[in-house]
Amino acid sequence: MEVATGKSILNGIAIGKLRIYRKAAAASETAAALSPEAEWERFETARVQAQEQLAALYEKALEEVGEENAAIFEIHQMMLEDEDYLDAVKGILETQNATAEYAVIATGENFSAMFAAMDDAYMQARAVDVKDISQRVGNILSGRAEDSLLGDDPVILVADDLTPSETVQLDKSKLLGFITRHGSSNSHTAILARTMNIPALIGVDFDDSWDGRFAVVDGYNHCVYIDPAADLLATMEEKQKNDFKREALLQTLKKKPNVTLDGREIKVYANIGNAGDIGLVLQNDAGGIGLFRSEFLYLESQDFPTEDEQFAVYKRVVETMAGKKVIIRTLDIGADKQAAYFRLDPEENPALGYRAIRICLTRKEVFKQQLRAILRASVYGTVSVMFPMIISVREVRDAKELLEECRRELVEQGYAVGQVEVGIMIETPAAVMIADELAEEVEFFSLGTNDLTQYTLAIDRQNPKLDNFYDPHHPAILRMIRQTVEAGHRHGCWVGICGELGADQTLTETFLRMGLDELSVSPSAVLPLRKKIRSLDLSKEPEA
Ligand code: PEP
Ligand code: MG
Repeated sequence: MEVATGKSILNGIAIGKLRIYRKAAAASETAAALSPEAEWERFETARVQAQEQLAALYEKALEEVGEENAAIFEIHQMMLEDEDYLDAVKGILETQNATAEYAVIATGENFSAMFAAMDDAYMQARAVDVKDISQRVGNILSGRAEDSLLGDDPVILVADDLTPSETVQLDKSKLLGFITRHGSSNSHTAILARTMNIPALIGVDFDDSWDGRFAVVDGYNHCVYIDPAADLLATMEEKQKNDFKREALLQTLKKKPNVTLDGREIKVYANIGNAGDIGLVLQNDAGGIGLFRSEFLYLESQDFPTEDEQFAVYKRVVETMAGKKVIIRTLDIGADKQAAYFRLDPEENPALGYRAIRICLTRKEVFKQQLRAILRASVYGTVSVMFPMIISVREVRDAKELLEECRRELVEQGYAVGQVEVGIMIETPAAVMIADELAEEVEFFSLGTNDLTQYTLAIDRQNPKLDNFYDPHHPAILRMIRQTVEAGHRHGCWVGICGELGADQTLTETFLRMGLDELSVSPSAVLPLRKKIRSLDLSKEPEA
């Protein structure tokens, strides 16, 4: 038996086979190759295989979505025959003694940058395609399964790192748990694991021999046992069974109010990343959706999702929630959440950079497409719209003006449009300091404590080295939360928390005493939080 340790991001047990996810070599990596001729041959073999995959994809798409949509796979096939592209790969092999993986990924990145810089819109659009085909060949070369990180049977996925866009595309029914070498506890990948209720460890050192071996992820003890001894396996199975029993017991709290012993009520909502999470929301009996991270819809797509595509997703969520509140947070892309087709420039300080509302207010065509989709979906239930990363009254006014513009245009075009409540995230110190003014503009505040902690403590939430310094219990954060609640209430706004801190049961009593109106947490945290709320008595003096 082998044991490796890491940092747990969800207490739970996962038992099953490990599967290593190997990404194709990144362009920044250098590697020694056999010989340019041998690497060219490997590249050629992989290229032929990629062409076969693309031909099959074309046929499948032709049948399922028609010629126009299938055409992209023909373009990809043609790009893989382009002489300039092939010469560039060969050039890197010959001059740098590189591996075929390195040469093809580097060529993809170079060509992508070149296309992105062109004036012609058609050529600009090819920037994503050339990266895509290069990744496809790279994946074949490095033996990664085509089009899926997972196989047919459920596995514990092991990877150097997973980006938010990779995580959101994982088929949850095939995923027992995951283990990564890198990543921080406050990253979006960690948040997604919690939303999916999947035991996960980060900061684990692993090697290739792990692939295919049987293992147990023990989230309680921050470790993974590979080829566990029979008695340990039996203990872990027992522990897992107890977890399932506890979860079943929590189900008895369904339909019970979130009310303290002395009668104080608070709303408990759930956070979701995509429409697929709705099942978990209903299963855990959340009172609504307090944060729909709509950017994951963009991260799952190869290109900007159209208004109609977004409308279909929002409508499905809103309809399924059957009148319960659905708070759609508008596009919060940028920083760690990157989609290639946005073509965002690399930045020195991405967390402080061009992201979220800053992108939306400068790329209005993108923002308006989303606002129109939200307004159209609002006809089918109770929808709120929430703007992220706000630092000024002007931003809120500009965003609201665009929302109104979209409403007017939709009505003129004959669409039905419902009423939407408007709110903002309070996740910057600036927003806390001007909360009184901001409250005049909106109907609710939702505290994004993940970013509020990052910006207040000046700590990059993505940096695993700083995990021990990232302290959301810092008095500065707790005072800011109190200040925000008081300012909101002074102006008739309701105030909630949708950051991870909302699920921290050591603070539930504090939050209730502060007067918070809502807590929005990952779906699996809803019932445990309900249990906690129902055990509190605020008429008693708080414990010192
Ligand atoms: C937050 O910052 O607390 C938040 C809820 O948003 P995200 O984690 O998506 O940045
Ligand atoms: Mg945030």
